[in-house]
Amino acid sequence: MTANDTTSSLRILDTRVAPVFAGASLRRLCTGAIWSEGPIWLSQDQSVLWSDIPNNRILRWSAASGMSVWREQVEFTNGHALDREGNLLHCSHGLRAIVRTPQVQGVIRADTIDEVLVREFQGKRLNSPNDVVVQSNGCIWFTDPPYGILSDREGHQGRREQPHNHVFCYDPAAGTLHAASDFMQEPNGLAFSPDEQLLYVSDTSAALSADGTGHHHIVVFDVKGHTLQNPRVFAEISPGLPDGFRVDHCGWIYTSSLDSVQVYHPDGTLLGKILVPEKVGNLTFGGVRGDTLFIAASTSLYSIVLNTRGAIRP
Ligand code: MG
Repeated sequence: MTANDTTSSLRILDTRVAPVFAGASLRRLCTGAIWSEGPIWLSQDQSVLWSDIPNNRILRWSAASGMSVWREQVEFTNGHALDREGNLLHCSHGLRAIVRTPQVQGVIRADTIDEVLVREFQGKRLNSPNDVVVQSNGCIWFTDPPYGILSDREGHQGRREQPHNHVFCYDPAAGTLHAASDFMQEPNGLAFSPDEQLLYVSDTSAALSADGTGHHHIVVFDVKGHTLQNPRVFAEISPGLPDGFRVDHCGWIYTSSLDSVQVYHPDGTLLGKILVPEKVGNLTFGGVRGDTLFIAASTSLYSIVLNTRGAIRP
């Protein structure tokens, strides 16, 4: 087994990843964004929506119709997820809130009026929610770093009101918001293990540190009710940052970095890399079989079909 025996875009560092990469090749689907983030697969029309944050819009791609603008003037959305009812959740930098586009008769539509779901904690405005995941019990977990209020590039410059950059857990059944952890300096991406006993959260505080300090790692927590406990560093990601990531049905972690999607075994071993020509922001599993990794990387959306599938069925 050599490093280049599949395609030039794949690097096998541990033979366990070879079957997952077999026959796979990276494709650039479309381009034209400034900074791509928050991709989400919609099975309703077999499309991908994602945020082009500095352009303040949400883009759409499908195999049938290619790339288009889904919405404009979206208050600088970032991460996306579907809730248990199939509604579309947005992390809104501009509104400093978690926003919901309700599905209507099973369909997410661009012209549906959004609802603000969560916008403050203990009477103070959130920072700028960055990424979001939904637990099978319906709880909505999200990160709240300050990146969307530091300037007008990816939101509205504003004063921070929260004393910490929390990971939050919103329980929609109870209508309660819980500070799940204040352990992270600047929490960013997050994803559950398949059994939801673990939550992986990235810390990207190295992004803005002028002196080279700050984190570029993924921390793993034990999930206890609405809280996160027993944090330990899972992996240091370099080059670049683990902005966003996903977990497959085996529990393997697929994370963004500067030059690739890095694939980690839950034992912490770096198994391989999917090299991408642009800096990777985030990614999601999708496709009819859930086996296609859609990669939001700077100006473009890429895809690669793997011999695995996401932990969350689309
Ligand atoms: Mg992010």
